[in-house]
Amino acid sequence: MTAERKGPVIFSPIGANDGLKRALELKRPDVLEMVRDSNLKGRGGAGFPTGVKWNLAATSVSDKKFVVCNADEGEPGTFKDRIILKEYPRLMFEGMIIGAYAIGAEKGFLYLRGEYKSFEPELNNILNKMRNEGTLGKNVCGKKGFNFDIELRHGVGAYICGEETALIESMEGNRGESRNRPPFPVNTGYEGHPTIVNNVETFAAITHIIAKGTNWFKAFGTENSAGSKLLSISGDCENPGVYEVEFGITIKEILDMVNAQQAIAVQVGGASGSCVAKKDFDRRICYEDLSTGGSFIVFGPGRNMLDVAQNFLEFFEDESCGQCTPCREGIPVLLECLEEIKNGTCSESYFYDIRSLCETMRIASKCGLGQSVPNAFLSILDNFKSDYALVPDAAAEELYR
Ligand code: SF4
Repeated sequence: MTAERKGPVIFSPIGANDGLKRALELKRPDVLEMVRDSNLKGRGGAGFPTGVKWNLAATSVSDKKFVVCNADEGEPGTFKDRIILKEYPRLMFEGMIIGAYAIGAEKGFLYLRGEYKSFEPELNNILNKMRNEGTLGKNVCGKKGFNFDIELRHGVGAYICGEETALIESMEGNRGESRNRPPFPVNTGYEGHPTIVNNVETFAAITHIIAKGTNWFKAFGTENSAGSKLLSISGDCENPGVYEVEFGITIKEILDMVNAQQAIAVQVGGASGSCVAKKDFDRRICYEDLSTGGSFIVFGPGRNMLDVAQNFLEFFEDESCGQCTPCREGIPVLLECLEEIKNGTCSESYFYDIRSLCETMRIASKCGLGQSVPNAFLSILDNFKSDYALVPDAAAEELYR
């Protein structure tokens, strides 16, 4: 697979080590300041400011610090990091080295999703080449006293390990389960030491930002969403694939780009994201409107959206780690409710209670998995009310009065 559309940031031309060499010419605080000034936000979906994360790790006191690249690309409908891993891995590795220099780490890990294990030999070849040329190891690129190396680790297919604390648990050889936060990984991460965990695309963007400057980067996108986003576009469209788009692009513009003008809905952000119906196709991909880790699934005419909601819920039921009650017990209840809706037996008052359960799951689930389960479920039911009917009852009249 190759990128279908090469955009202005990640796929723009850059020479080997351009970003890294520029970083090593700067003092560490200046690199941190560049990352902060760029307004880069994490490309994995959560959108946390990268500069804030790195600064917290840099100021955390410890004899060891770690850099982790999260390549556990497991969100349904997401396959954009694999393009970087397969075609532009040095961009990502250089970004990791820049991160290590900025926070003062000597060790990094690339955590690959289990399904990408076949990439390991080639990635190890590249790491060996970088060691041989002095880009990894002692005195990186001749920078006296800066030592750093990268090791590969891989998951075994658990969706939850895309969450950074579950990923760290998995790296430590434990069952992949989310940790309570605080403490956050920037203070207490891998083996209890300050750790930055960033997505593949985030590290690749860093390399360009340091090489080309923050003003160059901020010229793309919107005021609060600087730069570009890689989208994995799939589903009912003529030209699926990986596209780099500037933040601010509308759903309609994307659908035109991939020849999917007949779409009735788009799921933005994968199973944990939201369903957007045709009436809202002027909404924009950016942190201030529709945030996404990269998944963009198109649904054409004839798709049964209630089946789509069921599919996502069944996915979450399989992937929930079962640690906390709202997620473990809530998902089966949502599935039962959906079954009743499909059968035409769900009452209005019961659905009212289910909305309340969704709110509880959002607030009380321990990690992002449980917190995001209601997103697709409610957005599909709210957008496609004409596809089902609730049974009116007296209790509902009381509730809605
Ligand atoms: S929200 Fe779900 S996946 Fe996350 S800790 Fe709770 S049970 Fe596990």
